[in-house]
Amino acid sequence: MAVTRRQFHGFALGAGALTAASMLPKPSQAAGRAKVVIIGGGFAGVAVATRLKAANASLDVTIVEPKQTYTTCVYSNLYLGGFRSFKSLTHSYAAVKARGITVVSDIAKDIDTKARTVTLGNASNPLPYDRLVVAPGIDIKYDSVIGYSQAAAEIMPHAWLSGPQTWLLKKKLLTLSNGGLVVMTVPNNPYRCPPGPYERACMIGHFLKTRKPKSKLIVFDAKSTFSKQAVFEEAIAEYYKGIVELNLTNEIDDFAVDRVDASTGEVVTKTGRKERAALANIIPAQRAGAIAGRAGLMDGDWCPVNPHNFTSALIKDVYVLGDAAKSADMPKSAFTAISQAGVVADDILADISGKPRVPGTYRNTCWSMVAPENSAKIGADYKPASKDGTPYLEPVAPFISAPGESAQLRRDTFLESAAWYDTTMNELYGSPLPGDGGR
Ligand SMILES: Cc1cc2nc3c(=O)[nH]c(=O)nc-3n(C[C@H](O)[C@H](O)[C@H](O)COP(=O)(O)OP(=O)(O)OC[C@H]3O[C@@H](n4cnc5c(N)ncnc54)[C@H](O)[C@@H]3O)c2cc1C
Repeated sequence: MAVTRRQFHGFALGAGALTAASMLPKPSQAAGRAKVVIIGGGFAGVAVATRLKAANASLDVTIVEPKQTYTTCVYSNLYLGGFRSFKSLTHSYAAVKARGITVVSDIAKDIDTKARTVTLGNASNPLPYDRLVVAPGIDIKYDSVIGYSQAAAEIMPHAWLSGPQTWLLKKKLLTLSNGGLVVMTVPNNPYRCPPGPYERACMIGHFLKTRKPKSKLIVFDAKSTFSKQAVFEEAIAEYYKGIVELNLTNEIDDFAVDRVDASTGEVVTKTGRKERAALANIIPAQRAGAIAGRAGLMDGDWCPVNPHNFTSALIKDVYVLGDAAKSADMPKSAFTAISQAGVVADDILADISGKPRVPGTYRNTCWSMVAPENSAKIGADYKPASKDGTPYLEPVAPFISAPGESAQLRRDTFLESAAWYDTTMNELYGSPLPGDGGR
């Protein structure tokens, strides 16, 4: 099933039940032009803005985003494997601006939910809003691994934030000696893109097999099970035997990483297994982007939300979506972020116009490339439900690729994934940037 343009917008059809947001005063609306401020110009933020503008051109929609260009994490593993260029993942905000959306190149430093303003890093005047959407993605919890830090990440890249880190990991792969050991560490759930580390293991496996055949990748995972496990294990056995060694934590061994030393390349697991890596890819634990914490939207590491419409469960009248949100069974993926964005945008539109709303429905599909033109997928629809009085998102009609599928089916799944990526990026960001900066 290829994801079509119609389906992309189709994700936006559902919207939330009436909430406190609908009861609040609407100052700019009274003045004729409601102001929506969106923090974060990633998948979630740009999808909300695009949907709002498409539905109501007179809305005043502003995205606050410090980066001049957006490089996707999606398909960054394929870049590591040699199947995509860095350029094809990097987009400017020109197409977003051309839709009449204001993009402020700045960082949101603080939110005053009483005054309804966002303080910016550089501008002296705070940005007023009528509706606020917070979509800052993730921050890396550097202190979740002893010895790891932002400085250590320049030597042992995590490459779990898009852009320079991905490029750094690729550069280190390219300069790795043939025979050099690569070590990857994988955190416990929840984290951005549950199948991402194993797609990366396959893509690094492919790179080593074809470019550095004497090298090896050792993976230490803090978990005992993982997303699309059967398919990944089959692929590793079939294509990367002797190249990729996967160590899952079980009742005997705890392969969660305990500490690293960037000066020596040493990686030590909780049970004391030591490896000296020529290249270490440390993927630490994560949390919602820092602005969410400063605004009081976080409970623990993530932002709890009302599953009907992704308004914050902690602060009235603020939407939180994408990876920053705590959305139970919904994995942290670009696909879910866009699906949530449709619901958020429709909720804002209904709220502003006073029209009735229906509860949101959501969808996810995560594709992973395991070998050339061989991809697997997992996904489900989600609907708001309640367990013991606690609202949550219930998976409906889940699906998953199985081991032993035909080469043709896997190729179709790969093509489906490529069609989704190209359609989505075109809908949200337009064409990738020309030039490649030598990457
Ligand atoms: C290796 C890898 C592979 C992946 N592959 C897939 C895949 O195949 N399919 C899929 O669906 N998903 C995939 N993902 C997951 C996907 O990248 C994320 O789920 C998605 O980017 C989440 O979107 P978001 O908008 O919430 O966050 P982001 O895309 O991270 O966007 C957040 C934006 O907010 C900005 N921001 C942060 N703080 C502030 C602030 N204070 N002020 C202003 N702006 C701020 C950031 O600069 C950033 O641009 C992958 C992830 C990784 C790491």
